[in-house]
Amino acid sequence: MSTRREMKETEPVETLRVMTESPVRTGLNRHEVDCSECGGHFYVDDATYDRIAEALAVDPAGVPYVCQECEDVEES
Ligand SMILES: [Zn+2]
Repeated sequence: MSTRREMKETEPVETLRVMTESPVRTGLNRHEVDCSECGGHFYVDDATYDRIAEALAVDPAGVPYVCQECEDVEES
């Protein structure tokens, strides 16, 4: 008897903390940003860039962007 279950792919929960950056410019990631932690240059897509611009508009002195690698360090 087969007990194979259907594995449903869990969709990633979209939060403000989830950012998809790439080290090189791509079709979608065409906005250059600097990580305020490590100073690295990354390219982000329109949606991510909008969030950064929004955050800067609210608090120009705040931290505009932290790359995923630095965020992971903070969380652990
Ligand atoms: Zn970083």
